[in-house]
Amino acid sequence: MIGHRSKSFQDLYADLQPKLQALFYTQGPVFFSTSSAWGVMEAAVRNLTNRKVLCCANGAFSDKWYDVALRSGKDAERLTFPWGTPIDPEAVRQKLSTGEFDALTVIHNETSTGLMNPLSEIAAVMREFPEVSFIVDTVSSFSALRIPFDELGIDVMLASTQKALALPPGAALFAVSARALAKAETVPGRGYYFDFIEFQRNHEKNMTPSTPAIGHLYALRQKLAEIAAEGIEKRYARHRENAEIVRSWVKERGFALFPKEGFASLSLTCASNTRKIDVAQWIQILRSRFQCVIDGGYGKLKGQTFRISHMGDETPETVRQLLERLDECLAELG
Ligand SMILES: *Cc1c(COP(=O)(O)O)cnc(C)c1O
Repeated sequence: MIGHRSKSFQDLYADLQPKLQALFYTQGPVFFSTSSAWGVMEAAVRNLTNRKVLCCANGAFSDKWYDVALRSGKDAERLTFPWGTPIDPEAVRQKLSTGEFDALTVIHNETSTGLMNPLSEIAAVMREFPEVSFIVDTVSSFSALRIPFDELGIDVMLASTQKALALPPGAALFAVSARALAKAETVPGRGYYFDFIEFQRNHEKNMTPSTPAIGHLYALRQKLAEIAAEGIEKRYARHRENAEIVRSWVKERGFALFPKEGFASLSLTCASNTRKIDVAQWIQILRSRFQCVIDGGYGKLKGQTFRISHMGDETPETVRQLLERLDECLAELG
């Protein structure tokens, strides 16, 4: 192990920075947090809400972000859409036009419903409201497709390590715009551990505010090397191909995609259990026979849906193998 105030650490941090900036498509800093995504999700609200935060909610994670904003002592409002239905950019425009809000939270890829929200369209609306901080969770989509931070005018974009990066859990990455850093200085109650200004100050010395999970940085270095070796465009194409294979299988087997047409996620597929099979039993057979895992539906969607991940290191080959095994287990359900 190396010390987190050592030259070796600074070299490691500095080595990762340009590679992370390339993945975030930003000229600005990318910070490393020793926390899961929720640490940074809470931090973003605490660092960037002076007046009131509008939380777009159309799934389990985005519903909860509103609650986290309230628990952080912020004035917050939820803009709700039914699960499986995308955020309507026009509804966002109408809400922000009231002038009540100075921050907006959006979950790009709602992992609970397998839905990808229309980020470019929302970003276009956000350009009309430069005083409103644009906070985006890309936890389960980061590195699965191009999400250009600078070009979209995002203020905070965050991802944890254990989803599309396919690394162990326990760390998160986040980019913060210069505009957001300047605003954070004016927001009281930022605390210490997640104070964006502390991150920026330490970043200037290639360090983090407190002792980071250095082991994760080594893992990240290895993952970034793997991403570079594959080629980023190939990585994106692989995720698209994985998604197409799973979506076709879902339809061919007589199930349906849960999200509204055109908004299915690239990194995981949430299927409606239109055949009314015993999802729990199916998953149990899969697990015991093949030690493979799919999910039996998140929260209130348990049993009515199932979710298949095809992000991170999954390939068309591993995805096809999983689907064959799912078929074999499905045949036994009777
Ligand atoms: C998993 C997930 C989270 C929570 O991430 P943690 O790393 O557990 O804090 C937040 N948002 C989305 C979209 C997720 O998929």
